[in-house]
Amino acid sequence: MAEEKHYDVVVIGAGPGGLTTAMYASRANLSVVMLDRGIYGGNLNNTATIENYTGFKSVKGPDLAKDMYEGATQFGAEYAYGTVTKVEDQGATKKITTDMGDTYIAKAVVIATGSGQRHLDVPGEDEFAGRGVSYCAVCDGAFFKGLNLAVVGGGDSAVEEGLYLTQLAKKVTVLVRGDHLRAQPMLQDEAAQNDKLEFVYNTSVTEITGDDVKVRGVKTHNNQTGEDGEMPVDGIFIYVGSYPMTAPFANLGILDDQGWVKTDNEMKTSIPGIFAIGDVRETPLRQIATAVGDGAIAGQQVYKYISSLN
Ligand code: NAP
Repeated sequence: MAEEKHYDVVVIGAGPGGLTTAMYASRANLSVVMLDRGIYGGNLNNTATIENYTGFKSVKGPDLAKDMYEGATQFGAEYAYGTVTKVEDQGATKKITTDMGDTYIAKAVVIATGSGQRHLDVPGEDEFAGRGVSYCAVCDGAFFKGLNLAVVGGGDSAVEEGLYLTQLAKKVTVLVRGDHLRAQPMLQDEAAQNDKLEFVYNTSVTEITGDDVKVRGVKTHNNQTGEDGEMPVDGIFIYVGSYPMTAPFANLGILDDQGWVKTDNEMKTSIPGIFAIGDVRETPLRQIATAVGDGAIAGQQVYKYISSLN
């Protein structure tokens, strides 16, 4: 049955940022709940191997998520399932509503909903989702052992996940719409040394094709020569950037014109008691390390804010 629950702090999203805020705030003796529509860890669960998080030479995303969760909850922070549909500013309290019908009343809210993966929006993408179209190499890569794959994109995600897929697939072709990669140089160097990874530049995917069973290929367009082509593949992994998960906050007037949350460097939005951290905010760098840093600042600022109410 729907209930009204009271906490000092509601953290919306239990990725690396949200987990860190929950740890700091609960260590400061505040009552904290993290609300998430999925398992804790956020995008960590879609990341095979992390090599740029301080303290670890290499760590698997889901393993790091579990450790962070245990760290966050050891001081009493709770986790609850639910998709937040609305946040209302009531002055000294905030009202948070979920699709489960639950209502949370909190003194402070920390938005840590992160970003979602953009879609290509081409014919066949929705039709073959789960039948060869994927957005998560860690989740689905094992279905493509010994097969030929395409990856779309030219950023860190496309190259990193393309590299991961070479451990399973026969060959991975990365289709890059421009004439160069945007990924960090270290990843590009690693990719250049991998015989199973090939880059095809100036190439957009215009359609994903298949039969009743699964994906069989992609139709392509060369952005330089104007030529159209076709490439047989057994699966396609799409990594073409991200969008902010901010729909439930659209009414608050705290978003920029692209939908990211605007904050100051203490993670405060323009509404007292509403903070935002990590990938969801307007920020020059979206990394685990930056989300964790934001989360620590917000944990401290939330404590100061709530103390000032008393
Ligand atoms: P991203 O950096 O925004 O790159 C998106 C890529 O997709 C770009 O190459 C872009 O091409 C391409 N693209 C966009 N729309 C396309 C379309 N319709 N068709 C074909 N290609 C398209 O996104 P990301 O790689 O997902 O990374 C997101 C953030 O997470 C970044 O800040 C990244 O640094 C971070 N990240 C970091 C790591 C790491 O540190 N190891 C790993 C993963 C992600 P153009 O260049 O032509 O625009």
